[in-house]
Amino acid sequence: MPLATFPLGPIETNSYVLHTNEDAVVVDVGGDPAPIIEYLNLHSLTLKAILITHLHFDHLYGVSELISACHCKAYTPAGDAPIANTEASLGGIWGFPLVPPFTGEPISPGETVFAGMQTQVLLTPGHTPGSLSYYFPGEGLVFTGDALFYRSVGRTDFPMGNGTQLISAIREQLFTLPDETRVYPGHGPETRIGDEKVHNPVCGSFCS
Ligand SMILES: [Zn+2]
Repeated sequence: MPLATFPLGPIETNSYVLHTNEDAVVVDVGGDPAPIIEYLNLHSLTLKAILITHLHFDHLYGVSELISACHCKAYTPAGDAPIANTEASLGGIWGFPLVPPFTGEPISPGETVFAGMQTQVLLTPGHTPGSLSYYFPGEGLVFTGDALFYRSVGRTDFPMGNGTQLISAIREQLFTLPDETRVYPGHGPETRIGDEKVHNPVCGSFCS
C-alpha cells in the first residue's frame, strides 16, 4: 500500500497520494500540484479520483490544475455546500490567494470503491458542516482532513463550525475504527486511532 505525502501551499496542507501498482487517488490538493504530477508520472500511475475532505481554501488550491492535468473528477463533500461560495472556500482573505475555480462532484457518506480500493466515506462534521474522512479498510488507514490531528482536533471557530459535533463525530466515526488504523490528517504528522483514543488532549478517553 504505497502512500506519499506532499505538504503543499501557503499553510503546508498535507496532500496525499494513495495507490496500487497502477491506479491512484489523491486526497486534498493544498497548492501547486507539480510534485504530485511528477510522482504519478514517475510511478506510471493513473489518477482515478481527487477526494476532498472539506471545502476550506487551503485544501483546494491545486484542485483545478490537477483536474486539468489528469482528467479526473474531484469529489467534494455534499454537506459542505453551505460554505461552497463563501470566503472559507474561495480564499482571498487574510492575504491568502483566491482558489482557482473548479467543478466538484458532490459525494455523500457511504461505501464505495476508488482506484480499486474499498473506501468508506465517513461524515465527520464540526470543523465544517460536511467534513468527510476517507477510510480505506484494506489499507488500514484513514484520511481525516481537519477533523482529527496528531494530539489535537480541528478548529471550530470558523463559520458553521461546531465543537460538540466534532467531538461526537471523532468518537463515533473515527474512534470506532481498529486501534491500529493509521491516521493521515490535513496538517502535521500521522498518528494512529488507538494512540489518539488514549492520548488526545481534546477527545481522548480521559476527557469527559
Ligand atoms: Zn479546514
